[in-house]
Amino acid sequence: TGSLSDADIEAALTEAYNKFKDLKEGKNADYIKELANVDPNIFGIVLITTDGRVFTKGDITSMVSIQSVSKVFTMAKVLEEQGHQAVMDKIGVDATGMRFNSIVAVELQRGKEINPLVNPGAIAASSLIGGADSAAKWKNIMDIHNQFAGRQLSVNWPVYVSEAGDNLRNQAIAHLLKAYNRMYFDPVQATDIYTKQCAINVNAKDLATMAATLANGGVNPVTKKKVVSPETVMYTLPVMATAGLYDDSGIWLYNSGLPAKSGVGGGLLAVCPGKFGIAAVSPPLDAAGNSVKSQKAINYVVEKLKADPYLVQ
Ligand code: GLN
Repeated sequence: TGSLSDADIEAALTEAYNKFKDLKEGKNADYIKELANVDPNIFGIVLITTDGRVFTKGDITSMVSIQSVSKVFTMAKVLEEQGHQAVMDKIGVDATGMRFNSIVAVELQRGKEINPLVNPGAIAASSLIGGADSAAKWKNIMDIHNQFAGRQLSVNWPVYVSEAGDNLRNQAIAHLLKAYNRMYFDPVQATDIYTKQCAINVNAKDLATMAATLANGGVNPVTKKKVVSPETVMYTLPVMATAGLYDDSGIWLYNSGLPAKSGVGGGLLAVCPGKFGIAAVSPPLDAAGNSVKSQKAINYVVEKLKADPYLVQ
């Protein structure tokens, strides 16, 4: 298999960036009002290898809110605290095949046919995460994000306030789970913690560091610190593969072969186990809610580097 050379990685990133930088497809999310105001031209790609090499292209300093990408790290922390059996039994690990905020998905099997990477399962995960009260749970969530990113992240308060005042649908989802005994903390507070976690600010480099930590079995390859166990990563990646891009997860996996996670802020990260983490940021989204340019750019790099793990030559 051989390790990837610096020159090959740099060339792949540069080509992907140039090929898609002027693409004008998709539209910023606007159901969270603040997201409509983010500069749609932000575009950056970062790849970080498991041996700690960092490659960047384009805008890697502009911050976007992490949104649904955060679901991965809260899930990982719950796995770490409670083990894989508990996550399967108390939340669920099956793809819904539906939109990320589907209520039907909760209703079908009385809350069992969901997973931590769509809204219902993610709100359940924030209800389940360790911490006696809301403040302790929030601190726990912020800590795990900081460790994956290898630095102290911050919250975009205008994004939080804008969504918190307008998240009745997520509150309804949390209450429906509560009705089915699958909510493990106050549903209003759990939804609020989840909303805050979605407003954490990240750039393309943060997301790539987080992806590279997963690619490296839970050890951050930049800080060299152990964040989660290899088993936690082993149980996180399959849910990313089956549900990381909502109802387009199958198309994504078909094209890239990589476990990945998107967010409506425009971030997308993908994990090539044992090799690298890659991430891109570009706010305009397609109909499923996934960043148009981020998907194209990452797919291009994966193909160029022959990094699809299903390719056996
Ligand atoms: N905070 C957003 C929501 O709950 C996250 C959705 C997403 O990124 N898909 O709707």
